Amino acid sequence: MPQFIPINAGMAPDEAIALAIKQCRSLWLSYPDRPGEELAQLRQLLSDPITEHQASLLTNIAFSITSIQTVIRSLQPPHLNAIHIPPISGHPTQGYWLDFDNPGPFPNHFAGICPIPADPCINRDKPLLHLLSLDTYDSRLELAGAPHRYLPLLFCWTCEPAAPFLYRITPSRVILLDAPLGARTDDFPWNGYPESFPGRAVGLTPVPPDYQELIRQVVHADVILPREQEHVRDAKHQIGGDAFLWQPIDDTLRCPSCAGDMPFLATICDNSAGPGTTGDYTQPFCGNLGVQIVFQFCRACWIVAAYQICD
Ligand SMILES: [Zn+2]
Ligand SMILES: [Zn+2]
Repeated sequence: MPQFIPINAGMAPDEAIALAIKQCRSLWLSYPDRPGEELAQLRQLLSDPITEHQASLLTNIAFSITSIQTVIRSLQPPHLNAIHIPPISGHPTQGYWLDFDNPGPFPNHFAGICPIPADPCINRDKPLLHLLSLDTYDSRLELAGAPHRYLPLLFCWTCEPAAPFLYRITPSRVILLDAPLGARTDDFPWNGYPESFPGRAVGLTPVPPDYQELIRQVVHADVILPREQEHVRDAKHQIGGDAFLWQPIDDTLRCPSCAGDMPFLATICDNSAGPGTTGDYTQPFCGNLGVQIVFQFCRACWIVAAYQICD
C-alpha cells in the first residue's frame, strides 16, 4: 500500500486539495459532475496557505472519515450555516450553566434531598434520585405561577432508563404519573447505590451567545470544530437554550394532560460534584460520561418528562 503523504498547515490550497483527492478512497469521486462543483466550492473556502484546522479537515476527506459536503459546511461562515438551524428549542431561550461557586440570590438545590415531598420510585420503595431543584423565584427561568417554589428534576436508574417517565408538580408534592416498570435490581448503577448525593446550592450563569452559537452549529449543522473548541462537545449541566446533547431531544413528546408541546427545560450530565472536580470524578451520578438526562416540561400543567440519552 502506498504511504500516506501528510496534508499540512502552510500548504498551498491547490496542492492540499490535490493530495486529499489523490489519496481519497471515497466513492464520491466517481459521481459524475459532483466533484468539480464541490471542489470549486471547497477551494474558495480555503485560506492561502491553509491553516492547521483546514489541513486536518482535508486529511479527514482523504481518509473518507468526513464527506466533502460536511467539510464545506464547516468552513462556511456561520450565517450561511444558519439557514439549516431551527429556532432554539429550550424554554427559557437563554441557556444557563450551573455556577457551583456563586449560588447568587436565588440558589437552586443541586443533588441532596428533594425540597418537596415526592412519590417514591414505583419499582422499589425508595426515593427518586434528586438531581436539581430550580428556584422558580428566579425570573430568568420564566417559571412565574409555579405551584411550588421549587421545580425538582428527578430521575431513577432502577427503572428501565430508556423510557421517559412523567411527573406533575403540585403545591404539596410531586406526583408520579407514569413510570416505566423496571427490574428491581439492587446493584444498578452499582452495588450500594446511594439514595442521594451530597447537596449544594448553585447559581445560574448565562451561556455566552458565541458559545451558544457553537453548540447550535455542532448539534444542528454537524460542524466539525477545531481542536481548541472540541470542549463544546462535552456534556454539561444546562438549563434552557440549546444544549449539547448526544442525541436530539424528543420533539414528538406531548404533555399527557393537555397534549401540548413539552419544550426542552434542562439536561443533567454525569457530574455530581461540579466542574472543579471533573478530574478525579469520584462521584458520578451513574458512572458513564456518555449518559445525559433530558427534561422536557409543560408549563401549562407543570408536568415534567425525564429520560436518558447516551452517546
Ligand atoms: Zn425507579
Ligand atoms: Zn400540559
